[in-house]
Amino acid sequence: MTWFSFHGGHSGSFCAHAKGTLEEVVETAIARGFTHYGLSEHVPRYREQDLFPGEEHLGTEGLIRAFEDYARAAFELQERYADRIELLVGFETEALPPDIWPERMRELRRSYPFDYFVGSMHDIDGRWVDFKPAMTDELKAEFGAEALHVTWFERLADMVRLLKPDVVGHIDLIRKFEPPDFAFSPAALRAAEGLLDAARAAGSALDVNCAPVRNGYGAPYPQLPLLEIACRMGIGVTLGDDSHGPDTVGVGLTASLEAIAKAGFRSVRRLSRGRGWEDIPLDQVRPG
Ligand SMILES: [Zn+2]
Ligand SMILES: [Zn+2]
Repeated sequence: MTWFSFHGGHSGSFCAHAKGTLEEVVETAIARGFTHYGLSEHVPRYREQDLFPGEEHLGTEGLIRAFEDYARAAFELQERYADRIELLVGFETEALPPDIWPERMRELRRSYPFDYFVGSMHDIDGRWVDFKPAMTDELKAEFGAEALHVTWFERLADMVRLLKPDVVGHIDLIRKFEPPDFAFSPAALRAAEGLLDAARAAGSALDVNCAPVRNGYGAPYPQLPLLEIACRMGIGVTLGDDSHGPDTVGVGLTASLEAIAKAGFRSVRRLSRGRGWEDIPLDQVRPG
């Protein structure tokens, strides 16, 4: 049996909105039966206005230092725990700062011998889409709901084309605050297909991310209609718990696995350091 997640491992050691230490996250992943666990701490933000709430005391310089400290600590843990769990060390991107983010993200990719990275976006024009319903509502009012969703998928598709991430993070994060029965419009779904095309061309796997299940925001990302399209298009999927501390390691991840099965997939992609991506049959994927 094998159990894995390639999006998560945020910790209070290096992320102001997470809890616990990175070592506690790793110990918990071992205790909860993970054989492979991806660490994908947030990248630094480079403009004061892009700090997450609660990071003001760190400032942009503090974030850059915290990311360097994260990378060193993560590689040290990878080696120290190698006989108990395979840790994959990576990071989670932003499409920030505007215009120059592709080069910034590539620089980060080169700055350490990272095993992989998660291509994620959490903003539109420097405004967070996943922080507060009122902020997302403002964006919806300005763009119109459908145009906002189309813009979201088009911009994420651009990121996938430019960065070719190993994993594409929570592709429909834009619907975080929508009701559980929310459905994207036909135009938004067409834009989502453009994103999925880009993911296929880049060889990226989709993060099937259980954070919404845990936090009361409905089905895992991506919601079932998107997963079904991905399955028909032959795009690979992987698991992501989006843990932000030891208490959330693996919590809700069986819902991701169930959604993958329901969408028609027969296997889940697992990344390992020696062998790269492998397709693991669904019946072999469960906590050890
Ligand atoms: Zn986070
Ligand atoms: Zn994220």
